[in-house]
Amino acid sequence: MSRVVLVTGGSRGIGLATAERFRDLGDRVAVTYNSSPPPDGFLAVKCDVRSGDDVDAAFDRIESELGPVEVLVSNAGITRDGLVLKMTEESFDEVIDANLTAAFRVAKRASRSMIRARKGRIILVGSVVGLLGSAGQANYAASKAGLVGLARSLAREFASRSITVNVVAPGPVETEMTATLGADRLGELAAAVPLARIATAAEIAGAIAFLASDDAGYITGAVLPVDGGLGMGH
Ligand code: NAP
Repeated sequence: MSRVVLVTGGSRGIGLATAERFRDLGDRVAVTYNSSPPPDGFLAVKCDVRSGDDVDAAFDRIESELGPVEVLVSNAGITRDGLVLKMTEESFDEVIDANLTAAFRVAKRASRSMIRARKGRIILVGSVVGLLGSAGQANYAASKAGLVGLARSLAREFASRSITVNVVAPGPVETEMTATLGADRLGELAAAVPLARIATAAEIAGAIAFLASDDAGYITGAVLPVDGGLGMGH
């Protein structure tokens, strides 16, 4: 059955691959973007997830054009890398706001209609880095670790309404976010992965689609690694 799906930060990378996956499954997909709109085929809504007003307005528009959101994928995210001694508090706060507080914002707004409907799926895009830590990414790792506590708390609060909340934790994925690292660093990252390669965005989208499927109805509060084995055991 066709569902209303919202993917935040779906203009490119993992978000776009996820939006395409749900569209191919026959769902009605809304995509929010910050600077660059996604390709045609989705309800594209400009929304800076760092703004509560933007998030509210985006949900209002999606609800009036498609209906209440039944599957939320909180995917928008940023990096502002640097070693802690050089990392400013502004850069730390900026990443926490875009990656963690924004997930709280969109999940809270989505939960309104999900609670009324007594069903819903919330999937937060975390990272293996949230479990392993990463030199040069204290802000990013903290934001991604925070998503686990957020998801598990929401999972407990919403369980009685049959709403599941899970985290997908990718390892390195071929997107613009990693392209900036350069070929040498990407090669090093791939070499650290047991499967010895970087993931495609479609491989992350597949795991997200699974968590939104009927087959995953009994999975909540889980952290699903999609990392080629990089974080295994954590
Ligand atoms: P990406 O190619 O850089 O895309 C990021 C997306 O987030 C873009 O659509 C961007 O929109 C959106 N975005 C950023 N800030 C936003 C804001 N304030 N408001 C609304 N949208 C915003 O990144 P990606 O690699 O696909 O990453 C997607 C998610 O996966 C992120 O949460 C990231 O942390 C996570 N992840 C990525 C990797 C990886 O190796 N790539 C690994 C683990 C986890 P605009 O283009 O419109 O600005």
